[in-house]
Amino acid sequence: MTKKENPKLQFNTSWEYAPAPESTDHIRLKEKYDLFIDGKFVKPAKGKYFATINPATEQVLAMVAEADTSDVDKAVKAARKAYENVWKKMPPRERGKYIYRIARMIQERAREFAVIETMDGGKPIRESRDVDVPLAANHFFYYAGWADKLEYAFPNRNPQPIGVAGQIIPWNFPLLMAAWKIAPALAAGNTVVLKPAETTPLTALKLAEIIQESGLPDGVVNIITGAGATGAAIVNHPGVDKIAFTGSTAVGKIIINAVAGTNKKTTMELGGKAANIIFEDAPIDQAVEGVINGIFFNQGHVCCAGSRLFIQENIADKVIQKLKDRLETLIIGDPLDKNTDIGAINSKEQLATINKYIKIGINEGAEIYQSSCNLPKKGFWCKPTLFINVAQSSRIVQEEIFGPVLTIQTFRTIEEVIEKANNIPYGLSAGVWTDKGSKIFNLTTKLRAGVVWANTYNKFDPVSPFGGYKESGYGREGGIHGLMPYLNL
Ligand code: NAP
Ligand code: MG
Repeated sequence: MTKKENPKLQFNTSWEYAPAPESTDHIRLKEKYDLFIDGKFVKPAKGKYFATINPATEQVLAMVAEADTSDVDKAVKAARKAYENVWKKMPPRERGKYIYRIARMIQERAREFAVIETMDGGKPIRESRDVDVPLAANHFFYYAGWADKLEYAFPNRNPQPIGVAGQIIPWNFPLLMAAWKIAPALAAGNTVVLKPAETTPLTALKLAEIIQESGLPDGVVNIITGAGATGAAIVNHPGVDKIAFTGSTAVGKIIINAVAGTNKKTTMELGGKAANIIFEDAPIDQAVEGVINGIFFNQGHVCCAGSRLFIQENIADKVIQKLKDRLETLIIGDPLDKNTDIGAINSKEQLATINKYIKIGINEGAEIYQSSCNLPKKGFWCKPTLFINVAQSSRIVQEEIFGPVLTIQTFRTIEEVIEKANNIPYGLSAGVWTDKGSKIFNLTTKLRAGVVWANTYNKFDPVSPFGGYKESGYGREGGIHGLMPYLNL
């Protein structure tokens, strides 16, 4: 974009990018996807299918089976049979080999996975290619290594699998969340019934194809599609020993109530509203880039998104101006284009939620700043948005928006910012930008957040545990900690 096209620009970006769309020629989507139960693709009992669309074009990509309670029952029984007869008896080293094989097959099919993820969910191809798919493969590699070393991971304990795990995941990182769930469960010797989100089922189904090809014994992993009711049927099935849920705090609470009084174990990875804190001594340009990445990465569809920015008062004007300038250079549009920074909002419903919060912010009297970019006509889009001069009590500060919307507050002292950052129902993640190591250590102990990034943001690794405080949930995924919820110790 040049200054002539956009007079609001403080500086000229002297280059323009030619379109660089990723090819979709190699993608073969089926017209209809069935349920993956007991190693086979089977039709849903009621014969019902729903459409999954590309949120950037609103085109239907495929029809996907809707599992009802009898399909869920079939999947749970298949998982139970595989657990008792095959998987829990298999020498751990052999289990590990299957998990390694799945990891390698994800790598081999990485391009296919990345393109399908972007088409089905709307996230920029750069992200699905460089983040989602490699991390998903890494999770399988990492947990494959633990399969035959559980007694070393938990010395002087007797680690035993739990049984059948019901796993329910959201739409923001569909393949990656499936990997986070399936890999540790299998390594620990459990079998699985997994349900992807209604709007993004395709990469999980692609994973089912790989799992079938890998020769993993039938029924060890079952992948069934559907909406909330299918998830509820998994939660309520008496044959499930553990529920691993990632999604909203509201649905997490429903699930916790549903399993109360049963023997089912649960882990909950729920919502977030992270504070990203910039101190006066921070490297400002690096911090601005980190803030942009922290909230606009994946359209803000990130549980740990740095959605609340705190800037030390004496540098606030400078940082806000830099943020506005940077907003203008972000490229919004075709998620398949390798230059795109911000893709499509995942669904019409999610866009409505985000727009509702933008209205609330305006009505609450905050000052709004949006990028002056043009949005595509078809599909679901939201301009990257800043809210300046927001109050701590404001709803856009307290509630999770799950979109490309950043609230900005200022602070004077370290005590003040700790107080404000923690004064929120969530506690999943936070970010700190400063030159002083002592400040970082001070904050990491005082911020009530599962992950605190320092001078960086949104960095993930299979080795480090991830999870929340307060209404962001309990239990950890990733690392050795991620094995514990799948083991009786
Ligand atoms: P959601 O509405 O809670 O849905 C999550 C999953 O639960 C979906 O598969 C959904 O099915 C299913 N579901 C809905 N109602 C259910 C019920 N009554 N019983 C059982 N399952 C049910 O969340 P979302 O909108 O997909 O995802 C966004 C949320 O996830 C945000 O709050 C975000 O912070 C959170 N999240 C947290 C983490 C973390 O690690 N803490 C990671 C990613 C996302 P359908 O979608 O098919 O209806
Ligand atoms: Mg879709």
